[in-house]
Amino acid sequence: MNKPRTAIAPTREENYAEWYQQVIRAADLAENSAVRGCMVIKPWGYALWENMQRVLDDMFKATGHQNAYFPLFIPLSFMQKEAAHVDGFAKECAVVTHHRLEAGPDGKLVPAGELDEPLIVRPTSETIIGDAFSRWVQSYRDLPLLINQWANVVRWEMRTRMFLRTTEFLWQEGHTAHATREDAIAETMRMLDVYATFVEEWMAVPVIKGEKTAGERFPGADNTYCIEAMMQDRKALQAGTSHFLGQNFAKASEIQFLDQNGTRQYAWTTSWGVSTRLIGSLIMTHSDDDGLVLPPKIAPAQIVIVPIYRSDDERPRVIEYCQRVAQELRAQRYADRPVSVIVDERDERGGEKVWQWIKKGVPVRLEIGPRDMEKDSLFVGRRDKGHKDKQSIARGEFVANVAATLQSIQDSLFARARQFREQHLQRIDTKEEFYRFFTAPPAPENAPTPIHGGFALTHFSGDVDLERRIKDDLGVTVRCIPLEKSEAGTCPFTGKPSAQRVVWAKAY
Ligand code: AMP
Repeated sequence: MNKPRTAIAPTREENYAEWYQQVIRAADLAENSAVRGCMVIKPWGYALWENMQRVLDDMFKATGHQNAYFPLFIPLSFMQKEAAHVDGFAKECAVVTHHRLEAGPDGKLVPAGELDEPLIVRPTSETIIGDAFSRWVQSYRDLPLLINQWANVVRWEMRTRMFLRTTEFLWQEGHTAHATREDAIAETMRMLDVYATFVEEWMAVPVIKGEKTAGERFPGADNTYCIEAMMQDRKALQAGTSHFLGQNFAKASEIQFLDQNGTRQYAWTTSWGVSTRLIGSLIMTHSDDDGLVLPPKIAPAQIVIVPIYRSDDERPRVIEYCQRVAQELRAQRYADRPVSVIVDERDERGGEKVWQWIKKGVPVRLEIGPRDMEKDSLFVGRRDKGHKDKQSIARGEFVANVAATLQSIQDSLFARARQFREQHLQRIDTKEEFYRFFTAPPAPENAPTPIHGGFALTHFSGDVDLERRIKDDLGVTVRCIPLEKSEAGTCPFTGKPSAQRVVWAKAY
């Protein structure tokens, strides 16, 4: 049987990792750069990030946070103030040791002017923001202090992949200080909820909220909470994290305040972040073998209109009609904003243009030619359906219902992703079944490993060595201890009692 041709080669089945790279290329989201592990984010990819930023920024402000900006460089002595923190990040630090270039004996430029103290290019900003907080916080009246920073950070990652794990990445980092432990924990959970709401309602990516085990905790945190999503190769992706930092960083940076009784106390702090990795999760959750698929709420453009004409005579009339339809659509609102519409007037074949927009993931394509104009109708293609699934719809009807159509696409993507996750999530009660679940079926020689496994929900006694052994055996780790607790039971690996099931998976 002939396989249907797809716009992306290889397909997800054939080679998932390569498919991912090809989707990014076909959608023109980003490209690799001359600098190892660092990418160039192209306009279509950056527009996606800007939409994410806008929505998240509104959500942060609605929960009382203010934006500020802190230095890119962190003195080495600051990093060293918190022992676990510097330990955790030491292997990934880019370090600035010189501040100028000089011509060497052979005329080549070499670094010169060694710094008295090396500077770390921030991998995260707890310590430098902690230093500012130690000045800003004096009294209980200064608390809570709720700050967010939009920035780039650098972590010298060994294995990089565009958007998912890059050496330099864009993110936001929230940093807050509170008078009590309870307030700081409440903030940690509030921001985890903000992330879950954003990722599910705007990106249509279903997530499991949970806590990390000790081995996966943020260096210096008392507790790390996360949202975990399942990609189409059934691996887990940590989409966001929220950390309860206890008084660890307050003690390291001397963030102290006088309470109502005039007693000096250490503050309680939190930090939380999401990064350009979110774009990776979006790609891997919704895209198909024809390219990117974007949820309407976050797409850089929700609708593209492709004028179809056979001659230069027809062209102006068709384009004028298309522009009129675009204006009508822009007068409609969806997700609190005017509907965003592109009219693709480029001088290229209509069919070619349509395929480019399919690959770029635009939720709705309208093809309009002279015959459609005569009938006052539009040829409508929804990106969540196959590229052959096109419908002629009366212009007035389409315009009047556009918000409902976009919402229906948003809902269908979320439902599809949730159904996929449910299909590949299994409650497992024996060690044998667990090992079978995560062991790949045999594949022909040189073929990529077939897609297998998923999320396994098992009881677990919480033994750190056991978790490490399973990681060595299968490359599988506890992704999280879900906040939504299951029944108590018995750990299938040790026979010990277990308070609740945890989520295991291979992960990005
Ligand atoms: P962390 O500060 O380690 O809790 O990370 C905060 C957020 O950044 C999480 O959502 C991570 O998934 C994400 N992240 C961590 N490392 C990278 C990286 N190298 N590239 C892109 N995103 C990352």
